[in-house]
Amino acid sequence: MRAMDFLHARSANGRLADGIRRVGFRKWYERELLSSHAHMILSVLSVVAMLASFEASRGGSLLEQLADALFVIVTALIGWWSMRRFLFLFMRAEGVANQASCGDCGEYGRFRVVGENGDHSETQVRCRKCEHLWTICL
Ligand SMILES: [Zn+2]
Repeated sequence: MRAMDFLHARSANGRLADGIRRVGFRKWYERELLSSHAHMILSVLSVVAMLASFEASRGGSLLEQLADALFVIVTALIGWWSMRRFLFLFMRAEGVANQASCGDCGEYGRFRVVGENGDHSETQVRCRKCEHLWTICL
């Protein structure tokens, strides 16, 4: 296993099949929403820090102005990254949640993972109540 595979498998937002196998759909969904909203809060805080850096850049020596410009760039990058991450995690969680109802008996979120395709974009799941099989697409 390569180092990046290990990090990816251990991260809170790894592959869908691994996450659901480990903690079940409901906990996976809850954790995805919490993680995505933590990124949204980070994004808002970054914007506040960016505006504060703008405000601080008035006056001061050239070195201080350069440091403030660097803070503006760093906080803007953090804000951009965290907003992208929020949108990705939130949209993925909602996309999976919209496919979490059994097509046969209507049971919501009670299924187990039985397999996934090669690029992990499709996860085959089976209803715990009626054994109906369906595919969740990312
Ligand atoms: Zn069912």
